[in-house]
Amino acid sequence: MRTLYVLTLLFLVAWNTHAQRNCITMDVLEEAIKSDPTLKSRMEAIEQETNEFTRNFGKRNGARVVVTIPVVFHVLYRTAAENVSDAQLQSQLDVLNDDFRFTNADKTAIPQDFIGLAADSEVEFCLATQSPTGAATSGIERKSTTKTSWGTTTSVKYSNKGGLDAWPAGQYLNIWVCNIGNGILGYATFPGGNAAVDGVVLDYRCTGTGGSTLAPFNLGRTATHEVGHWLNLRHIWGDANCGSDFVTDTPVHATSNYNCPSHPKTTSCSGGGAEMFMNYMDYVDDNCMQMFTTGQKVRMRAILDGGVRASLASSPGCLPPGTGTCNIPTGIASSNVTSTSATISWAAVTGATSYSVQYKTNGTTTWSTISSATNSVGITGLSPATTYNVQVASVCTGGQSGYSSILNFTTTSGGTGCTDPYDINSTNNNDSKNKASSLTPGVTISAKIGTATDVDWFKFNNTTASRNVRVTLTNLPADYDMILYRSSSQVGQSQNSGTADEVIAYNNTQNATTYYVKVFSKNGAFSNSSCYNLLPEISSTSLQRQSSTLLDDNGMEQVNEEFQAFPNPSDGELTLLLPFGKELQGKIRIADLTGRTVYTEHFTASLESETLVLDVSNLKNGVYLIDFSNGQKVYTQKIIIAQRQ
Ligand SMILES: [Zn+2]
Repeated sequence: MRTLYVLTLLFLVAWNTHAQRNCITMDVLEEAIKSDPTLKSRMEAIEQETNEFTRNFGKRNGARVVVTIPVVFHVLYRTAAENVSDAQLQSQLDVLNDDFRFTNADKTAIPQDFIGLAADSEVEFCLATQSPTGAATSGIERKSTTKTSWGTTTSVKYSNKGGLDAWPAGQYLNIWVCNIGNGILGYATFPGGNAAVDGVVLDYRCTGTGGSTLAPFNLGRTATHEVGHWLNLRHIWGDANCGSDFVTDTPVHATSNYNCPSHPKTTSCSGGGAEMFMNYMDYVDDNCMQMFTTGQKVRMRAILDGGVRASLASSPGCLPPGTGTCNIPTGIASSNVTSTSATISWAAVTGATSYSVQYKTNGTTTWSTISSATNSVGITGLSPATTYNVQVASVCTGGQSGYSSILNFTTTSGGTGCTDPYDINSTNNNDSKNKASSLTPGVTISAKIGTATDVDWFKFNNTTASRNVRVTLTNLPADYDMILYRSSSQVGQSQNSGTADEVIAYNNTQNATTYYVKVFSKNGAFSNSSCYNLLPEISSTSLQRQSSTLLDDNGMEQVNEEFQAFPNPSDGELTLLLPFGKELQGKIRIADLTGRTVYTEHFTASLESETLVLDVSNLKNGVYLIDFSNGQKVYTQKIIIAQRQ
């Protein structure tokens, strides 16, 4: 449905004098999440860090620092007009500097009731003078192309697809200028995404001022809006009817505003009040937008001051060529990878006095940093069977280079001879709940089922702020299963067959308490030489059993798989092939199409067989929905009852 809508939009909106702003950043985000399901969880982590930063922003002391971001323009052109001049690009930089420092001349047009909210975002932009290799650059790359329009695919960002490659996103703001087509003014990537496509794309007709720009988008505000997205700002209407932009000092908006409305424009959302259509994150014309708010500024600063774009503040991109720092290390490689350690090496960099090595668990956002005097370093204290990201920067007398491209490596599972610090030699010293070993949320541990009857118990606490809980059991040497208890109540179980991973997500509104995890062999098979891995996690946002699936309002994973029910239509007797096998513990419900429950049955123990025969002869003829739920998954199937009259 969404895709159809976007396509329709693309074909209907043409560039003309009555053109309306059309930014497709949210659609680009949706596509990016589809191709990289882990992006969503990375963005959720960034959102959590942003909330934390916002809470503490007012408490911090001292003068804040202006962050200057080196910019590189990648111009792709077929016509002379598309090959925008250096002057036009410089004018774009000037507009960004005025708008983000609140020195824009038209700020006098901001209505009196909003002027107190307007902010200097303390962000500046400079045209790069030094390329990623330290060579001199004008900060402008140009490439002739035969493409008439680029659309919104990522081709424009890859040299081997006819575009121009991004410069390292940790050191530069990449801005591609091209003919996007279909009336699209521009789009941006949010923080947390793939560095190779990170940045802003602008149509040449709305880049800077003068030159090839066309009214009403001829004042460079498309870039201001898109760089706002790039620094994590959302559309002011929250991309929903009266939605939230995660900023508290912007008023609620019913939807996007176009052209140039008159103030006050009362919102149709509950509570009324005037809409702040002159905000850069609305859709009004360039000459009608004049401000970011303090709340938006704080949100952007969360990304720059210690957040995922923090490295921009120390980028050498605007230093004189060949000065400041030495080259970014290349040839990064891993070796001697064990379950808890790895050696990382790279090509030595001329002039480097030392190296800064950063590593983190894949999918998280916080790096650990270690220093190395040579071009090789051992990292210890790692978790088994875990994928890590690692990157290296060189340190010279003039400062530190940017970080290299990221290398991924995965620690081994432990394998033969793994030790079990939680249940040494399986002497059953934690084989009961009241002897459960304590775990730290977010830390993967390695443990062992050492005998056929060995049962391992663990415990961890959630917090009031991070109430949602997930436990993941991986690297199983045999068919191990897992049960999760909240205090004394069982709240979830995962009993997949074979050595498939077990995952339980328990999303809830309860306050902090202790959770217990029971790990055991399903049928007595075990390995005394191989450990399993267990990861407990807590979160302020809902946790999913898989990052690519969605939860419903009750925190239940929605599963599209169907189970078999036959015969269908049924004449009074229905045989169900159970989706959980014999290990069904949960609820079966049948509802009519109005949602009224007509049949329920609870199961608390394993069944005799994988099939279940239901007597539905007391149901009237018609269509019903039957669903299974075990507290984690809901399976749904449509059935028809057609009994002989
Ligand atoms: Zn936008």
